[in-house]
Amino acid sequence: MAKHHSALGLAPRSTAFATVVGGGIDIADQRPVDPVTLVRPHAAARAARFFVEKFPGRPMYAVKANPSPDLLQVLWDNGITHYDTASIAEVRLVKATLPEATCCFMHPVKSEEAIAEAYFTHGVRTFSLDSLEELDKIVRATQGATDLTLCVRLRVSSEFAKLSLGSKFGVGQAEAKELLMATRQVADALGICFHVGSQTMSPDAYANAMERVRAAIVDAAVTVDVIDVGGGFPSAYPGMTPPPLERFFETIHRAFESLPISYSAELWAEPGRSLCAEYSSVVVRVERRRGSELYINDGAYGTLFDAAHIGWKYPVQLLREPESDARDMDFSFWGPTCDDLDYMKGPFPLPADTNTGDYFEIGMLGAYGAAMRTAFNGFGSGETVVASDEPMLSVYRDVAPDEQRSTNVVKL
Ligand SMILES: *Cc1c(COP(=O)(O)O)cnc(C)c1O
Repeated sequence: MAKHHSALGLAPRSTAFATVVGGGIDIADQRPVDPVTLVRPHAAARAARFFVEKFPGRPMYAVKANPSPDLLQVLWDNGITHYDTASIAEVRLVKATLPEATCCFMHPVKSEEAIAEAYFTHGVRTFSLDSLEELDKIVRATQGATDLTLCVRLRVSSEFAKLSLGSKFGVGQAEAKELLMATRQVADALGICFHVGSQTMSPDAYANAMERVRAAIVDAAVTVDVIDVGGGFPSAYPGMTPPPLERFFETIHRAFESLPISYSAELWAEPGRSLCAEYSSVVVRVERRRGSELYINDGAYGTLFDAAHIGWKYPVQLLREPESDARDMDFSFWGPTCDDLDYMKGPFPLPADTNTGDYFEIGMLGAYGAAMRTAFNGFGSGETVVASDEPMLSVYRDVAPDEQRSTNVVKL
């Protein structure tokens, strides 16, 4: 995924938007020209509390999913004290926003300058790696520090994930032994981490990965102090209703308890998507209709990167009063730029009479949506307001996601 984290260049803001609205319909009433981002701090707070209370270890937030300082503050206020950062800019952002937070630098390929600044300027002590070369880099950049927690990233399968993270990082089974033994020599605490891929739909993914962890520990015969199961916890999207998160937690806990590790070993996770997917949505305007294609004012270079490039489906809801009583039909979207790639195939179900001048809300854009917005072609501006209503879908409510809404939203 592209990394257009415009928020990283900004000074941290305090968490307080001027405008608070009930929901998207209030925005549509104001007929804004630019897309409007709705943020729901209450939804992010609920997700954070869920992980803090129910995950059987320490959840750290994977900042790349959404680096908004306002969101970081909400997560902190609700018990998330540790942050998985993957660039020095993310480390700076977290430390500037939350000076007391702990950053863990979990990108397995870093520059020495980044490692040194993280260690000496920002107090970072936890780093991940997947090669002897990176281990050397960490030792050099920290001038042989003896207080490091070093997490060796294992390559594991992405077979249960909607988005693979299996090819780029992770040491293979054959080389894991040598790397674990060498890292053990250097580390104050030795960890093993992995990532099963994003939006993982089955707890089996974690069970299988933990078997790889077991094999690696037995093979290398090292004492392991931290097991970090990474991210990948799912959110709800049209056509993707995951099992309850508790089932993921139970599976992970059971596997962790049976590993050959010391009694005092810690369990960590790095949820990104699942902590912030429900945090934001966007209200867009239809600028033109051509058959079943809607030209809208946000797109692939805005918050809809994943919708364009990997065909991700988001829930949509027409914002019109009185409500349309037309039947839904399937639409695709063109974004505002002049680029043919700025196309979101969908299909996105909206009332068949949806037309130029209508507004609709696209939900579940808090993870890898809001974070991807660019200024390409002069677009990308727009207000952010706080909404007090429920997100269009949720994995944190008692009812199953597909029972949550009855009207013209999505057919899951
Ligand atoms: C992206 C990433 C995460 C977050 O993944 P989600 O699928 O959003 O939970 C966690 N850890 C690492 C190392 C990552 O690269």
